[in-house]
Amino acid sequence: FQQLSAVDPEIAGVVLGELERLRGGLQLIASENLTSPAVLAALGSTLTNKYAEGYPGRRYYGGCAEVDRAEEIGIARAKELFGAEHANLQPHSGASANLAAYAALVQPGDTVLAMDLPHGGHLTHGSRVNFSGKWFHTVGYTVRRDTELIDYDEVRDLARAHRPKMIICGATAYPRLIDFARFREIADEVDAYLMVDAAHFIGLVAGRAVPSPVPYADVVCFTTHKVLRGPRGGMILCRESLAPRIDKAVFPFTQGGPLMHAVAAKAVALREAAQPEFRAYAAQVVDNARALADGLAAEGMRPVSGGTDTHLALLDLRELGVTGADAEARCDAARITLNKNAIPYDPQKPMVASGIRVGTPSVTTQGMREGEMRGIASLIARAVRTDPDEPGGADALSRLAADVTDLVTAFPAYPRG
Ligand code: PLP
Repeated sequence: FQQLSAVDPEIAGVVLGELERLRGGLQLIASENLTSPAVLAALGSTLTNKYAEGYPGRRYYGGCAEVDRAEEIGIARAKELFGAEHANLQPHSGASANLAAYAALVQPGDTVLAMDLPHGGHLTHGSRVNFSGKWFHTVGYTVRRDTELIDYDEVRDLARAHRPKMIICGATAYPRLIDFARFREIADEVDAYLMVDAAHFIGLVAGRAVPSPVPYADVVCFTTHKVLRGPRGGMILCRESLAPRIDKAVFPFTQGGPLMHAVAAKAVALREAAQPEFRAYAAQVVDNARALADGLAAEGMRPVSGGTDTHLALLDLRELGVTGADAEARCDAARITLNKNAIPYDPQKPMVASGIRVGTPSVTTQGMREGEMRGIASLIARAVRTDPDEPGGADALSRLAADVTDLVTAFPAYPRG
C-alpha cells in the first residue's frame, strides 16, 4: 500500500476510502463478502502478468509451469470440495460462466426455460437486454402468488408446452431451497439439460449448510465471490462427459487468456472453504439470515415466502408505506448498505421496487451472530422509518450512522494491523 500511495495517491485514496467504508458501516448486500487477506494476496500477486491461453499442460504460451500448478491445484480442490467430475476455474465472472454454459449446451434460437427476472432470476436467465434474451427463445417460470415459492407444476407445464433444450434453476433473490431432484425429473421428461446457476448459494453448499445441486445438474455455474468468499470470478462444474464442451466454450469460444491471479485466488478460497471453520461459518450465515428476517418481520417488514433457508431475505415494505428505493437511500445515509429489490408480483417499477434484499455473508465473516442480527434489524427499521425530508430526519440518520459504527467497531472488517 505504501508503494501505491507513493505512485498514485489518488487511487490509494480510493482504496483507503473503501476500506474505511467497510470498517465504518454494515455490509448487507447478499452477493458480497469480505475475502481473506490470503485471497487478496494471491489476487495482488505477479500471477497477473502471465498469459496462459489454454489449459494446464496444453497452453499456447511458454513459461506456464507455475500457473499450471495453481490451476491444477484449484481444479483438484474444486472437484474434491463439491464432489464434481470436472471443474473449470477460468470464467472471468458469473455471467461469463453462464455464457459458456449456453455456448456448450444450446444453439442460438433454442428454447431455454429459466426463472423470470422479476421473480428472482438473473439477467443471464433470459432478460431481453442480455445475450440470453436476445439470442435464445427464453420462457420464464414464476413463484406462486400464495406461497411465493417456485411453482414446480408451472415449471413442468411450461417444459411440456415449450420443450426447452435447457432448463435453468438458481436465482439472485430467492430465499428458499430449490428442489433440484424435481427440476431433474422435469428436465428428463422433456430431454433437456439442467443447468444450475448456484452463484448465490454455492458457498453454503461448500459449507454443507444446504443440499448440493451437483448430483442432479448437467452443469453447475457460479460466482466465487459471494458466500464462497473468494475473489470476484466464476467457475463451472460438470460431468466428465461434458468437460470437453465446457472447456472449449470457456476458451477459446467466449474468453481469451485466463486471469491466473484470479485462478490462484480461487484455489486459495477453495482451500479455505474445505476447512471445518468454513462449515461453522456457513451454518452461522443461515442462522443469522433467519434471525435477521425474524427481527425485520417484528418491525413490520414482511419476509417474502415467510422467511429464509439461505443467506438472504427479501422484505416486502408495503406495510410501512416506504419504497425499496427510499429504504435503500435512507439505510445508505445511516451507513447500512443493502439493496432495493423487486418482490414477486411487484406493482412498482424495478428502479423503485417494493422491497429490500438483505444478506448475511459479510456480517457473519466479521463474527456477528443472532444477537447482533436483532440489533441490525432494529437499526434498519429505524433508518427505513426516518424520512430525511421531514424536520430532523437527516440529523436522525446521522445519529443512526454513529450507532451503526459503534456496533461494527466491535466486529471490524479487516482489523487494523
Ligand atoms: N448468476 C446469478 C444467480 C447471480 O446472482 C449473478 C450475480 O449476482 C450472476 C450470475 C452474475 O455474476 P457476475 O456479476 O460475476 O457476472
